[in-house]
Amino acid sequence: MSQPYRLQNYIGGTWQDAVQGAVSEDYNPATGELLALIPDSDQEDTDRAVAAAVAAYDGWRLTPAPKRGEVVARAGMVLARRKQELGRLMTREMGKVLEEALGDVQEGIDMAAYMSGEGRRSFGYTTTSELPDKFAMAVRDPIGVGAVITPWNFPMAIPTWKIFPALVAGNTLVFKPATDTPLLAMELVRALEEAGLPGGVLNLVVGSGSKVGERLISHPQIQFVSFTGSGEIGRRVASVAGEGLKRISLELGGKNAVIVMDDANLDLAVDGIIWSAYGTAGQRCTACSRVIVDKKVHDKLVERLLARVQALTLGDGLDPQVKVGPVINRPARQRIDSYVEIGVKEGARLLAGGKVAELPDLPGGHFYEPTLFDQVTPEMRIAKEEIFGPVLSVIEANGLEDALTKANGVAYGLSASIFSQDVNRVFRAIRDLATGIVYVNAGTTGAEIHLPFGGQKGTGNGHREAGTAAIDFFTEWKAVYVDYSGRLQRAQIDT
Ligand code: NAP
Repeated sequence: MSQPYRLQNYIGGTWQDAVQGAVSEDYNPATGELLALIPDSDQEDTDRAVAAAVAAYDGWRLTPAPKRGEVVARAGMVLARRKQELGRLMTREMGKVLEEALGDVQEGIDMAAYMSGEGRRSFGYTTTSELPDKFAMAVRDPIGVGAVITPWNFPMAIPTWKIFPALVAGNTLVFKPATDTPLLAMELVRALEEAGLPGGVLNLVVGSGSKVGERLISHPQIQFVSFTGSGEIGRRVASVAGEGLKRISLELGGKNAVIVMDDANLDLAVDGIIWSAYGTAGQRCTACSRVIVDKKVHDKLVERLLARVQALTLGDGLDPQVKVGPVINRPARQRIDSYVEIGVKEGARLLAGGKVAELPDLPGGHFYEPTLFDQVTPEMRIAKEEIFGPVLSVIEANGLEDALTKANGVAYGLSASIFSQDVNRVFRAIRDLATGIVYVNAGTTGAEIHLPFGGQKGTGNGHREAGTAAIDFFTEWKAVYVDYSGRLQRAQIDT
């Protein structure tokens, strides 16, 4: 066992302990190993970080956008150089298997490549004027100082979705990562530091949601909040930050469905479902937690799914044989287990799993058996609420319309997919699925960073991350009128 890291906050360009010196601990969820001692910051640390971001704002705002983009591009190169090492660290800190952890880092690298280019785009537009000798255009301004609050399940990718576009747009930031994954947050900040980011432009404060998070969302000098996490905390962010009239982007939970029609390639569907439902131990916002299958192929699909679920290997994600790692912590495992109990009580048929897994070689780990329920109905809680673990529910449908109604019959609207070879069915599903992301003949996960990412209904508040949509969130529009007539011309009056 190696020595635990000693993590610090990064404020105004210097690494420093929490002012009060309070410390908490960061554990490997597969082994129980103590990975790091981390600051347990409070309002004072948060206020210092906001002050540093305020002080750095003008300098960064006035740095030409292509230069801001170059810093992000260099940070992407640092991540690429350190990809293997960061992937391994991620598996140790949050548990996902190494292949997926490397994908998570790659997403950050891709985001740097894309967003650095926005430094030379960030397009506005010119347009006509209703008056003679008058020029009109719309340009983008940065917003100011913002807070970035992130979850633990994509500890590199999600922070980069927010931080890279926000920085390229000219904002300065305070970053509060999840307390379960601060090490990856530190590594991201170190990459930007190595890339030449000036002090104060990005500040890292490690500490709890109740202290650091609450202070950020209510701080009078924070002008926007980009938040990804649970619906419960998202509502809290919306109400507190909304009260302060801050701009708020919320990316929240999902209850994502895969629809399997009777004409589907069932082997492909099974591959897509297994990957989407049990990858990252079901802890992806886009994880498939419902399979809605046409009754004509129900039995065949369930039989194949069951065989595959039973063959999944649980263990430490650094072991290449392992397909499903631990869940993030003990309370999360407890929550998953209580949902399984609810499912059984509601009358769903438990086909596989359904128990905490005790692995003799990894007694300190938080493992849960990959779980499959059949005969689930849309009214059951396990069919409606986000479980965020390796638990999949199979729901039967009678044709496409019924499948679409069931897929849409939840409060969330992040991702959905349909397996079918029939182009008419596929296009109806694309039109009628009430989700921000639709996959055809693929599972519910696997977003690419140059397309908008986010959900409809209870998954968010209408903003999107990634692609050019991210620049829309992190900038203000400014309309500019240049009158070169030499006289007063009044719009709507002197036309
Ligand atoms: P969470 O409990 O809501 O926490 C998210 C972040 O909010 C963490 O940094 C947390 O800090 C912080 N926080 C907690 N209380 C706060 C408060 N009162 N004020 C401000 N910040 C506060 O979510 P999670 O368990 O980390 O992540 C899982 C959830 O994220 C799932 O619901 C998943 O679907 C969702 N998610 C959504 C997307 C998407 O793009 N739609 C992507 C990934 C994940 P602490 O760590 O200190 O508690």
